[in-house]
Amino acid sequence: MDTVDAAGQQGAAEQPLHGRCLCGAVQFTLQPPLDFVSHCHCESCRRSHGAAFVTWTSVPFDRFAMPSDAPVRWYRSSSFIEWGFCERCGSSMLYRAVADGHPESPKRDRMYVTAASLQEPLGCAPKVHVSYEERVAWFEPGDALPKHRGKTDERLDR
Ligand SMILES: [Zn+2]
Ligand SMILES: [Zn+2]
Repeated sequence: MDTVDAAGQQGAAEQPLHGRCLCGAVQFTLQPPLDFVSHCHCESCRRSHGAAFVTWTSVPFDRFAMPSDAPVRWYRSSSFIEWGFCERCGSSMLYRAVADGHPESPKRDRMYVTAASLQEPLGCAPKVHVSYEERVAWFEPGDALPKHRGKTDERLDR
């Protein structure tokens, strides 16, 4: 893979990040740089992962690698979104757009990956809370990161 030119040119060639599910049957790698890291509080993420929020990152498809026989199942929650999970242990790790949706939809050329599935340090910190209006009532993030409505730029914390 020779797609790390952007990082390489800055003299900071980045090592791949390794991800896996709970049982280890699904393994994949991401080649940084990551597009973003953010905490999503939307109801879909919460229900899919059984968690108060989900921390996501993404890379272009050509910097995501997973064996073609990895036991990943895809749940299609709408005509344009799929959620990827291990069919053996149920770990939810992946998210992708399979058709054009609305303006806030994920990008068609990206694989979205849960940061918590990755083994190594991310190399960049989460920068924002998104869909903060859908957050649970019983957890308040203690950080000073901006909190946005949906995936828009509208701030809810000022
Ligand atoms: Zn598994
Ligand atoms: Zn979400």
